[in-house]
Amino acid sequence: MRKKRGKRIGFVPTMGALHQGHLSLIRLARKHSDFVVVSIFVNPTQFGPKEDFKKYPRNLKKDAALCQSSGANLIFAPSPEEIYPKGFSTYVTVEGLTQGLCGASRPGHFKGVATVVSKLFNIVQPDAAVFGQKDAQQLAVIRRMTADLDLPVKIIGAPIVREPDGLAMSSRNRYLSLEERQQAVALSRALNMAQRLVKSGKRESGIVKRELIKVLKHYAPLGKIDYLEIVDNATLKPVKVIQKNTLLALAVKFPRARLIDNIIV
Ligand code: AMP
Repeated sequence: MRKKRGKRIGFVPTMGALHQGHLSLIRLARKHSDFVVVSIFVNPTQFGPKEDFKKYPRNLKKDAALCQSSGANLIFAPSPEEIYPKGFSTYVTVEGLTQGLCGASRPGHFKGVATVVSKLFNIVQPDAAVFGQKDAQQLAVIRRMTADLDLPVKIIGAPIVREPDGLAMSSRNRYLSLEERQQAVALSRALNMAQRLVKSGKRESGIVKRELIKVLKHYAPLGKIDYLEIVDNATLKPVKVIQKNTLLALAVKFPRARLIDNIIV
């Protein structure tokens, strides 16, 4: 993609099935640039063999209209064959940061993410790219990769956009049954409770974790806790005492959807 002369290119990579969370990223990209490119690509290499690659919602027409109404200037929606032509064999691996949290339950996921994002950066050549804090580990991995490989892209983190009841917006929320949807609010409820605990002076991770588990088990009995971690927001290493820039991150598996959420305290 040729650089617009003298214009700053902002970039928002997505997998489509766009919602207000994605649109907030597009609007933020607009603030940081003159020309916004949105990619819509359900990236096969970041899905595990038993994950939802095939049934991941795809609706390019609707997504295109949403992109346009949010200030995007160009949509890049390649086919898997364009991104991974026959013989493709080069991957980007970010070590360390990708071991825990989502990386532990989704082996290979971040290798797929880092690979496709580096390819998209090379194709789009953006000056700035926006990623949601919703995927906190992904944001940390992209920041690391961009710094480590000297990629000339400014990485911008965007706050989590939530439903009115607090559930973090996600393309996968549509997989939830009515009952599961009602219980899914437990994720943000638990995180808010944890923040209140920290504010009231309870800062030992062990204690806060126990309380988080109690809330999740009580309000979301249909969900199974996949992980619940209290880590440093940059290194993603566990912390014993919650301080500034501590990330509380969790994933809960419902029968049809695995949901993630987090909060920085
Ligand atoms: P996805 O299409 O799910 O791969 O997400 C594309 C981008 O949108 C990623 O940077 C996500 O972190 C971001 N995103 C997804 N959901 C939200 C949300 N509820 N709030 C803010 N950003 C989000």
